[in-house]
Amino acid sequence: MSRDSSILVIGAGPVGSVAALACAQRGHPVCLVEADHRINDSPRASTTQPPTLEIIAGLGLIDEYIAQGLVARVFQFWDRPTKSLVAEFDFERLRGETPFPYVVQTEQHKLANMSIARLRALPNAQVHLGMRVTDLEQTADRVVVRAVDADGAHEFVADYVIACDGGRSTVRKALDIEFEGFTWPERFLVITTRFDFQTAIGCSLRNYMAGPEEWTNLFKVAGDDLKGRWRAVYNTRPDESDAEAVSDTAVRARLARCYAEGADWEHLNLYNVHQRVAKQFRKGRVFLAGDAAHVNNPIGGLGLNSGIHEVWDLADLLDRVIRGEADAGLLDAYERRRRPLNIEYVQEQTVANKRRLEEADPARREARFHELRTAADDPARHRAFLLRASLIESARRAETLA
Ligand SMILES: Cc1cc2nc3c(=O)[nH]c(=O)nc-3n(C[C@H](O)[C@H](O)[C@H](O)COP(=O)(O)OP(=O)(O)OC[C@H]3O[C@@H](n4cnc5c(N)ncnc54)[C@H](O)[C@@H]3O)c2cc1C
Repeated sequence: MSRDSSILVIGAGPVGSVAALACAQRGHPVCLVEADHRINDSPRASTTQPPTLEIIAGLGLIDEYIAQGLVARVFQFWDRPTKSLVAEFDFERLRGETPFPYVVQTEQHKLANMSIARLRALPNAQVHLGMRVTDLEQTADRVVVRAVDADGAHEFVADYVIACDGGRSTVRKALDIEFEGFTWPERFLVITTRFDFQTAIGCSLRNYMAGPEEWTNLFKVAGDDLKGRWRAVYNTRPDESDAEAVSDTAVRARLARCYAEGADWEHLNLYNVHQRVAKQFRKGRVFLAGDAAHVNNPIGGLGLNSGIHEVWDLADLLDRVIRGEADAGLLDAYERRRRPLNIEYVQEQTVANKRRLEEADPARREARFHELRTAADDPARHRAFLLRASLIESARRAETLA
């Protein structure tokens, strides 16, 4: 049986598209297969941290990426019930640490689409949309992947597989890898609106608004027309039904509680939120990356960023092994560093971010606000807070973990 590609990437979300482009740009025959006929453009992640911007620059996409998004230099913490600013953190304090002392808010489907456009221009890359992977098996020297499309069943043969097929990963299940962790009892509701919160309340482009019963994670994105949209993410009550959460009355009330009285909305997205990490990030020649390997709550904008860091790292490891510059043992480094980094910098951080927003005990709530204020006011603590929140600390740790 002949090989179709040296690297097969499953799933053309942002992580899989970047994985495929990174491997193809290193000169390897790459095949990207995606179950859907088009890239999912529902409102999901957008916050792109400085180390991820460095990777996007490495892919040659940075100008286009910034042009399709919004540059956000600061982020703010608010006490929502009293409509008061608690603390502001300014990425400008990281100048010298990174060429990108800011985050860029660019919707994730734009990254997938621009990566796929570049892939299609490369002679060593194939992209198959509408091709759903159903199963795979591996031997000592290859992986056979079975898939179906409108024409029927297909088989792909590759040296290595990178599975970026999302939180419900078919590949992770086929490999019988446990997805350890838990699901939060409440769901998150994303309301997309043209209401201009910045003009109305003087907030920044990225805001975390704490509230003992309900909090709001509020940020602005460019939108496909670049005219600007706000996304307001709320927790629902655990006992609130889906129908109730998306009802006009409840949505209107949620917007009003966040100072957008009478505002209209364009889109609603209600979803379950998990904190889970795959027990293994690799089995033989198959690697898990992005949401296939880990899922987390979106507060802080970390999950997708960590997925992109993973595949950038993996593309380099595979490149060195395929070229014969290192033996296959080098590939063990992937799980050895990526799994603990996700647990420490993404899982622990996003759980802490959520707890900070939802704290209900008045004394503990005030203590958290005090901690934020004093960190923002102290230059060394301000920088330290940002280095962790931006994943720069995680990226540096990765370099020290063999
Ligand atoms: C509903 C929802 C809302 C979210 N909102 C936010 C948010 O507000 N902020 C935030 O930071 N993060 C958010 N996230 C998380 C963020 O979107 C993910 O971290 C990000 O999408 C991960 O990218 P990925 O490429 O790993 O996976 P995905 O984007 O899930 O892409 C996986 C791809 O694999 C494809 N695929 C699946 N199975 C197969 C198969 N068998 N064969 C071939 N292809 C397959 C899928 O069609 C999909 O295109 C949200 C996630 C969800 C699910």
